[in-house]
Amino acid sequence: MLEDGTLCQYCGEENAVIRCLGCGIPLCNTCVKLEDYGFGCDGCKIVAFCPDCFSDPNINTVLKYTDT
Ligand SMILES: [Zn+2]
Ligand SMILES: [Zn+2]
Repeated sequence: MLEDGTLCQYCGEENAVIRCLGCGIPLCNTCVKLEDYGFGCDGCKIVAFCPDCFSDPNINTVLKYTDT
């Protein structure tokens, strides 16, 4: 999914394996935050965020539902 040799843009030390859904930066396995977007519709959809986007409710919309 990513070109070989692309470095994680968050830590800059490990090879990136996926891109953040929010800001699009390459992320390694250590930095990526996975969110389960399965809301009972068509199964579980796992999406990837960087730590910044993961904690931003405007980007990670799962956070909007955690209190309901
Ligand atoms: Zn990293
Ligand atoms: Zn991001």
